[in-house]
Amino acid sequence: MLVIDRVAPMGAAADGLRRDGRRIAFVPTMGALHDGHLSLMRLARGMADALVVSVFVNPAQFGRGEDFESYPRDAARDASLAEGAGADILFLPSTAGIYPEGHATWVDVGPIATVLEGRSRPGHFRGVATVVAKLFNIVRPHVAVFGQKDAQQVAVIRRMVADLDFDVRVVAAPTVREPDGLAMSSRNAYLSPAERAQAPALRRSLDAALRLIAGGERDCARITGTMARIVSAEPSAAIDYISVADAATLSELTTLAPGTTALISLAVRIGSTRLIDNDTVTLDRDNG
Ligand code: AMP
Repeated sequence: MLVIDRVAPMGAAADGLRRDGRRIAFVPTMGALHDGHLSLMRLARGMADALVVSVFVNPAQFGRGEDFESYPRDAARDASLAEGAGADILFLPSTAGIYPEGHATWVDVGPIATVLEGRSRPGHFRGVATVVAKLFNIVRPHVAVFGQKDAQQVAVIRRMVADLDFDVRVVAAPTVREPDGLAMSSRNAYLSPAERAQAPALRRSLDAALRLIAGGERDCARITGTMARIVSAEPSAAIDYISVADAATLSELTTLAPGTTALISLAVRIGSTRLIDNDTVTLDRDNG
């Protein structure tokens, strides 16, 4: 595995791969790699001839008072895990490499980026879209793989790729979970043992929502109400949002109509750690 820490050599390596007729798959990450990231890499590796993984803790997607400074960083461990998952190139740019003096252009993806995570974390998706656009231009992938765990991020990237005519296929990979259902996340490391024991409530609330819907419930307030009761039963949990939205537009739904694909998502603070999770459900077109 080649490790590249500057933008120009990464661009040159991508050009070389393309000149040789090789298809490039790309998995952007912020490091502190776990099995969720590695599953994306394995999936991506099977879709192309060369796999580029980036590790860049992007300051632009962290709000004031968020965990940019304390975000877990371990480049040596990340390198050995990425290599084990089949990465051919590990791209580790510096902040100054990505945002040199004078950087002034930002990608704003519109309404889809201002709801849910975007409402709770103003500017977050502007930072995400900008860095992903830059990374796409540097790495020039044929296919890029993102995790469905960050469902809104996938929607934002798809919107950006369509709107800005990026020639890249965006693939969403399933969420990888701990045995008790907690979605893997670099931020899970912040949880104390007592908080960690409460964190599976997010997944349990999603399971309850899916059961209600399977049983015929179509009223979104009743679905989110049940989810809220499950999460609130945990002593350290504070709900940021619980949402049932149209999966394509992310606009909130009040009832589930036949044929709808709904994104059920939630953000919950357990102590001082903010966790997110989601699932999607598609209702039958004929009888809903
Ligand atoms: P991050 O390092 O948190 O920016 O995540 C990098 C990529 O890994 C994003 O596309 C995430 O959606 C994805 N990802 C993070 N956690 C998981 C997980 N538990 N399962 C699948 N993909 C994940």
